[in-house]
Amino acid sequence: MKTDLANSFVEALREVLTTTNGFIPLHEPRVGELEKEYVSDCIESTFVSSVGKYVDRFEQEIAEYTGAKRAIAVVNGTAALHISLLLSGVQKGDEVLIPGLTFVATSNAVSYCGASPHFVDSEEDTLGVDPIKLDEYLSEISYISEDSCINKNTGKKISAIVPVHIFGHPCKIHEIVEVAAKYKITLVEDAAESLGSFYQDKHTGTFGKFGSISFNGNKIITTGGGGMIITDDDQLADQAKHITTTAKVPHRWDYVHDQVGFNYRMPNLNAAFGCAQLQNLEKFLASKRQLFAKYEEVFQKFDFASILKEPSGCRSNYWLQTMMLHKPDKSLKEVLLSSLNEAGFMSRPAWTGIHKLNPFQNCPRMDMYTLENLEQKIINLPSSAFLSEKS
Ligand SMILES: *Cc1c(COP(=O)(O)O)cnc(C)c1O
Repeated sequence: MKTDLANSFVEALREVLTTTNGFIPLHEPRVGELEKEYVSDCIESTFVSSVGKYVDRFEQEIAEYTGAKRAIAVVNGTAALHISLLLSGVQKGDEVLIPGLTFVATSNAVSYCGASPHFVDSEEDTLGVDPIKLDEYLSEISYISEDSCINKNTGKKISAIVPVHIFGHPCKIHEIVEVAAKYKITLVEDAAESLGSFYQDKHTGTFGKFGSISFNGNKIITTGGGGMIITDDDQLADQAKHITTTAKVPHRWDYVHDQVGFNYRMPNLNAAFGCAQLQNLEKFLASKRQLFAKYEEVFQKFDFASILKEPSGCRSNYWLQTMMLHKPDKSLKEVLLSSLNEAGFMSRPAWTGIHKLNPFQNCPRMDMYTLENLEQKIINLPSSAFLSEKS
């Protein structure tokens, strides 16, 4: 019986996770004294808004941590993606390849550029874009003209691809970079979920022209809301800073703006919070790795599912822990979700495929065979840092 199975699974989880008030959220931020200290300091300085020392410091520290040459702080991860795509030359009427399995922000950012998302399938090992299927697909549906990739069916230029490191697990970025180069497609990484995740020894988000990171409240570290653009290109970094700060030409008093810019600045208050969070990142990472090990132990007692492990050769931040049913099974998935949530273990299925959402229904896509299966296999389990440390 599926219900019995779900109940014994919930019982096994109880031994690993402690509920103090009968409820464990999917992912909650961890905030301590350091955040209070930095935010108070920021308030006392009166530099609470769009400029200040914490913004500069946060940018510098993220650049250092990720190994990117430059980092530009912005209001959220979606804005980071939007600007990354614009500065990659994505234009109105273009198509941008993105996975159907992602958060809606990836698709929205493409739309903000006046471009159309073009959905590609994912693969089972990493949940990221499938590079082999992508190569086969592009060889069928596209041709190269004047150094651009053109979609034979729509006549439109495929100007960029945005692979996503799903739930913090590095995708097969090396292979995807090769396919993108072969078809003259610019690569921008959605590393919103993967701060602290490395492909071999290189940080995710540093493989393409740009990478974008999110500091939303549910991510591995948070600034309340915030994002970061990372890049190795100084000129593009300068442009990114310029157009995210209203394109104002530096002057002591004159207001001159040399193009239509965006007010996408991260306030100093949020950056102060972020600097404190970043100091704890290593602790969060270690604790989430420990939680993974605990889940792994639990799953050894069951043979219907397993917990998703970091891809070989990669170091994952284990942002969201992911249960994978061994076989697609919609009814088992529903029963598990219901038992888990009833027991106070907040759990969620994967996002509805973005290609199926109303605003994107008519966008081009390849067949989404693997994703259709994955949707019936994935359940995200409670993943907050320090969850495995029983008090
Ligand atoms: C969170 C997230 C974003 C967007 O970040 P916001 O800061 O919420 O705008 C983009 N892509 C993915 C995959 C995300 O998980």
